[in-house]
Order: sequence, then C-alpha cells, then structure tokens
Amino acid sequence: RDRTLKLIRHPAKHQHVSLQAWDSADELIIDHIAESQSSSLGKCIIFNDDFGALGCWYADHAPHWVSDSWISHRSLEDNLVVNGFEESLTAEGLVSAPVTATDCLAALPDKPDTVVLKIPRALALLEHQLIMLQQVITPDTRIIAGAKAKTITKNVLELFERYIGETKTSLAKKKSRLIFSTPDAAKLDAPATSPYPTRWSVRTQNGLNVSVANHANVFSRQSLDIGARFMLEHMNVTNNERVIDLGCGNGVLGLNALSLAPEARITFVDESFMALASAKLNVQENFPDALERCEFVPSNCLDAIRQRGDGGYSKVFCNPPFHQQNAITDHIAWQMFTDAKDCLARGGHLVVVGNRHLDYHIKLKRIFGGVSQLASHQKFVILNSAKR
Ligand code: SAM
Repeated sequence: RDRTLKLIRHPAKHQHVSLQAWDSADELIIDHIAESQSSSLGKCIIFNDDFGALGCWYADHAPHWVSDSWISHRSLEDNLVVNGFEESLTAEGLVSAPVTATDCLAALPDKPDTVVLKIPRALALLEHQLIMLQQVITPDTRIIAGAKAKTITKNVLELFERYIGETKTSLAKKKSRLIFSTPDAAKLDAPATSPYPTRWSVRTQNGLNVSVANHANVFSRQSLDIGARFMLEHMNVTNNERVIDLGCGNGVLGLNALSLAPEARITFVDESFMALASAKLNVQENFPDALERCEFVPSNCLDAIRQRGDGGYSKVFCNPPFHQQNAITDHIAWQMFTDAKDCLARGGHLVVVGNRHLDYHIKLKRIFGGVSQLASHQKFVILNSAKR
C-alpha cells in the first residue's frame, strides 16, 4: 500500500497539530483488505470514518460513505479536495461520485459486497447501523470493523453476534483490532426492529409535559442530562426573541424555550444530524404550530450562522460538549462562546450551563468582558454573559 494521502481534520485552523486525521485501525483495515484474496471492495459501504481517511483511500472504489457528523462530512470533503478528488464535489458542496456521503438515517445501498465499519463511540449508533445493515446485506457480504482494542468490548461483539452472525477478532496491532462478522442467512430473513428513536417525557419550566424522542447517536438519549435539567429551571425567554439552542442534542433547551414562549423563533444547531432530526421531530410532536418559526442547522459551532452574516439573536443557550470524536478538548467551548458573541445582537445574552470544575467563567469573562452567575448548585453553575 505505497500511497500517501494528506489528511486534515476540519476545520484545519482550529486543530492541534498533534491530532491525526486517521488512526491505526484505519491502517489495519487498509492492510487487511490489501492482503486479502479479494482486494477489490466491489459495492462498498464505509461507516463512521471520522475525518474521511478511508473515504479518500477508497475513493476510486466509489464507496457509499455514512456518518452522523457534519464535521466528518466537511473533513471528507476537504480531504477529497486536498488529494485531488475535487471533481467529486457538487455545486452545493455535497460530495457526489466517486464518494456518496449520507447521514445515518438515509437508506443504505442494497446488496453491498463489502462493509467497512469503524466502531462509533455510542454503542446505540452501532446497534442502529447493524440493524440497518440487516436489511441490505447478503450472506456473501464481507464485514470488517476496526477500532482501538480497548473499545472492542464484549458488548460490541455481542451486537455483531446478535444482528449479523458469527464474529471473530484479529490480534491487536498498534493497539487496534479488527472484527470479522459473517452474515447469518436466518438473521437476515428475520430482521430486527430498531429500538430507536427512544422516548421519554420531561416537565418544562412552566409545567408542560413534553415527549422527547432521541435517535441513536443523541447525547443523553436515555434520560435528561443533569446539566440540562438544571438549565430547565432557570431559562428566561419571551415571545419576540430570536434564540439559538447551541449543541441542541434532542433540542430539550429549545423545547423549554418554546414552552415558555411559543412564538419565539428558535434556531437549533448541532454537528450531529441525528441530533437535528430528533430536535425537529420533538418540535413537530410537541409544538407543531411553532415549526415554521424554527430551523435546524448542521454546523461546526456557529460557523453556518456566522457565514450567513446573522448577528441578530437575543439569546444563545448552551450546554457545551467536552469532546469531539475521541479527543477531549476545550477548543469547542472556546469556539462556541466566541461564535455566540458574533451571532448575538448588542444586549443579547449567552447562557451556559456546565460542571463547575470546567471553569467556563474564565473563558466567558475573557471573550465577553464580563460574566455573572445565574444559579449554582453542588455540581453545576449557570453563567450569563451579555454582549455589550
Ligand atoms: N443541549 C443538549 C442537552 O442539554 O441535553 C445536548 C448538550 S451535549 C452536552 C452537547 C451537544 O453539542 C451534543 O449534542 C453534540 O452533538 C454537540 N456538538 C459537539 N460538538 C459540536 C460542534 N463542534 N458544533 C456543534 N455542535 C456540537
């Protein structure tokens, strides 16, 4: 495999140079396929390729490429361009041939010859993907999965056994391993029904019961996050406001805003397509009349809102993430807070909930020139910064 690709993580300017855009599991997968009897992939589906390394490596096999992450989609695009596949971009910036990129709710191509799957962080997403695969694979489909050895747990292997068939692993090499699963015709004849989206209900600040649907890859999909719960006691929104739910997940903060102010205009933003799909479903099911005043925007932090030059928001509510893919980092909180300032009108507020040890007040003070504490309890604080 003597080829070299140049690979970056999107957006390149915000990344630490030590963070690679590929890992040893990618290398194992590539080596395994190159050394196997059939190094041609045939009709191929690639799942959860964080920064598009596998999508680029196999671009000339015209793979179908599936990821829940907006950032991964942009990384794939960037890397296809950097490596000379720019003719594969459509006018809208979406990737077309040779790589067909979709989110994780879109239908999969029928009868793939090869499936290459990186194990995602959320096992629920893996389960969702294996259930979707049951519908399209044949007993002859070759299934190769790869991950860091420590993430290949009994639970991961059980999911492959349950939905696909007999499952084996390779020896570990450079701390990664491969999984080989052989489709069992009987399982394919009786495909499972997906348990996703999962649903639970929550009481909003003014006492309304709303039902919250969560697609498989949504943060805190089994119950309300404790930070979010605390925020639901302290939000203040009125009907004439324009509000952003930044990093919306299932949209619970925006739903609470709609419960307080059904005529407010809410922009739900997340980098996960499943999060946005869940938030949309939740507005549709709980506040159908408000749907026309809501939008659901895939974006890395508020890039997409800044790019349209929209600085007219009155409030941004945010329960920030503290990792991106597998890297634990605070650069997302930094970018979310600086972006929020750009998108707020003068006098507008950014309201952040976080674990008190994360010290978000230091960042907020530096960016906004001031910060106050709206509420606090043992573990969490709610901080408020106004744009002057
Ligand atoms: N607002 C929800 C709540 O309070 O339950 C979810 C909060 S969760 C802590 C953070 C959210 O930020 C996740 O839904 C995650 O997908 C999203 N996220 C992570 N990185 C992001 C990025 N770079 N841009 C936009 N959203 C991001």
